[in-house]
Amino acid sequence: MRPFDAPIEPGTGPGCALCGRSTYDPDKRGVPWVRAVAGGRQVLICPECQREQADWAANLDRCAACGGTRLGVMLGQIVCRACGYTTARAGA
Ligand SMILES: [Zn+2]
Ligand SMILES: [Zn+2]
Repeated sequence: MRPFDAPIEPGTGPGCALCGRSTYDPDKRGVPWVRAVAGGRQVLICPECQREQADWAANLDRCAACGGTRLGVMLGQIVCRACGYTTARAGA
């Protein structure tokens, strides 16, 4: 009794963390996919969700130094691409 359309858990696959859409190369004139971190894991947000969901960044982790969401996971650490601030990944 497992529904086929069960929602994809955010951050588990190589697709949009919000809608589950598979990654694709966006139109060169369009909005690029956003790489961010949610719950200590690298996630991607598709251009459609950025455009259609005003609070698409609400669940993303934020840099403790600058408050930005442009974070990346590297070697078990979370690195802010805006200011370079590095934090140990939660639970690591
Ligand atoms: Zn999406
Ligand atoms: Zn920062």
